[in-house]
Amino acid sequence: MKKIQISPSILSADFSQLGNEIKKLEDGGADMIHVDVMDGHFVPNLTIGPPVIKALKKQSSMLFDVHLMISPVHKYIEAYSEAGADIITIHPEATDDLQSSISKIKSLNKKVGVSLNPETKIDVIMNYLEQINLVLIMSVNPGFGGQKFMPEVLIKVKALKKIQEEKGLDFDIEIDGGINFDNSKIAIEAGANIL
Ligand code: ZN
Repeated sequence: MKKIQISPSILSADFSQLGNEIKKLEDGGADMIHVDVMDGHFVPNLTIGPPVIKALKKQSSMLFDVHLMISPVHKYIEAYSEAGADIITIHPEATDDLQSSISKIKSLNKKVGVSLNPETKIDVIMNYLEQINLVLIMSVNPGFGGQKFMPEVLIKVKALKKIQEEKGLDFDIEIDGGINFDNSKIAIEAGANIL
């Protein structure tokens, strides 16, 4: 079994104190930092862009798990790579050509993540699983912090875990949104290894 890793989102941080907040997470034992990037188009809210990530990266040795909720995403992949993203996660709906966006991330020597919204089916990524390092299962609708966890998405986590075992693949399964001490247990039981 993979080690369970914690990737707290800076969406819930005090944005006037981001550097300190990241230090607190690092001291608290977080394995990586989840950076939710929103564009006011793919999702209703706006968050942070590459300059902020670049500044934060200088202050931390943790992995930056960058979740791009931006559309069209393809032309921005390089900027987030240069800013210091270690994992770049995109949504299939946000690119015209999922294969070329995956190839772009790989060409920059970054880990490839693909995220599935609560209503997005696993079928969308079935042909790409061999190339993906991380599948990010959204357990809330993307775009806002502080939403309630949707347990029905665990069906997808379980299905992915099964496919992973059958095909002998090694991607991480991350669950994103509304995770707390209680529901983290059922997410882990379903097969998630990053929360
Ligand atoms: Zn996220």
